[in-house]
Amino acid sequence: MPNATVPTDLHRHAGDGWVTCGDHLHWGLFGAAGLLLVGRDDDGEPAQIVLQHRALWSHMGGTWGIPGGALAPDEKPAAGALREAAEEAAIDPAAVHVVGTHVLEHPAWTYTTVVADVAPGYRIEPRAADPESLEVRWVGLGDLGSLTLLPAFGEALPRLLTLLG
Ligand SMILES: [Zn+2]
Repeated sequence: MPNATVPTDLHRHAGDGWVTCGDHLHWGLFGAAGLLLVGRDDDGEPAQIVLQHRALWSHMGGTWGIPGGALAPDEKPAAGALREAAEEAAIDPAAVHVVGTHVLEHPAWTYTTVVADVAPGYRIEPRAADPESLEVRWVGLGDLGSLTLLPAFGEALPRLLTLLG
């Protein structure tokens, strides 16, 4: 049944759709990817990350996760994560320096977390740039416990944080 509250001005592409994976579903016919953008303190230690407060109409709406979404056909995960971060959070791809990826593999689907620093000389002020977010902002690592995280992101986060070095 159509959901009347879903906005109509979304970015759509041929990778959008649900994939059946065993007894559950995933979003992204060609997999999905997201950007874990890290802000560092003056000593170079990870201090904050960009999080998206997911719109209430979306899957797992109201929880916090990273900007991201379904990959387009033939799109590389890093390119898809940067495209989604630009669409959803107004993050300039030129201001992002990718440092690594982490791939979560399911039988019928993969999710790639693209871990990145702010490129030297840039300053990133993310904001909710499309209807998929209630809010997008920097969140201090010490404040993560006060937010309701997207369950899959919350489970992966300890491992992801070890990649930040
Ligand atoms: Zn699965």
